[in-house]
Parts: sequence; C-alpha cells; structure tokens
Amino acid sequence: MSSSPVTRFRCTSCGNLTRFDVTTTRRTRAFHHYTVGGALEVEDVEVLAEELESVECRWCGTAGIVVEVDPAEVDPAEGGLDESEG
Ligand SMILES: [Zn+2]
Repeated sequence: MSSSPVTRFRCTSCGNLTRFDVTTTRRTRAFHHYTVGGALEVEDVEVLAEELESVECRWCGTAGIVVEVDPAEVDPAEGGLDESEG
C-alpha cells in the first residue's frame, strides 16, 4: 500500500485552510464486486494517474488565490475544523 502525502492548500486571500473546491482528473483501476442481486461494491481502488486541474477557495471562489502548502508547515491546531462532526 502506498501512502502518498496529503496535499494541503491555503487561500492567501482569506486564510482558509480547510474548504476548497478541487477539480481533478483521476484514472483508476478497481475491483468491482457485484452481488447476485446487482449491488456493487468497489474495492481495491488503485489510482493510476491523477491530475489536479483547479483548486478554488470555497469562500472566495475564483477570486481567491490558493497556494499549495507543505503539510509539515500547516499547524493542525490552526487548521481547526474537520469533518468529524458529520
Ligand atoms: Zn478564500
């Protein structure tokens, strides 16, 4: 299993670190496991290629200036909210 580092972004316009609209083109290979009833479960997804097309700040939209940041530079406490609240 490969654990590629997570790409982090920062909107330099508003300081947003956690909400972005990310457009990617992703080529994947996966095991599609159907039940006899036709229900599909996708397993073992392997990303063959991934191309980042655009990243927009959720709050600023196209007006925001988003830069890629090194995850090591982002203080987790600064990042604040995550999706754990559901
Ligand atoms: Zn922003």
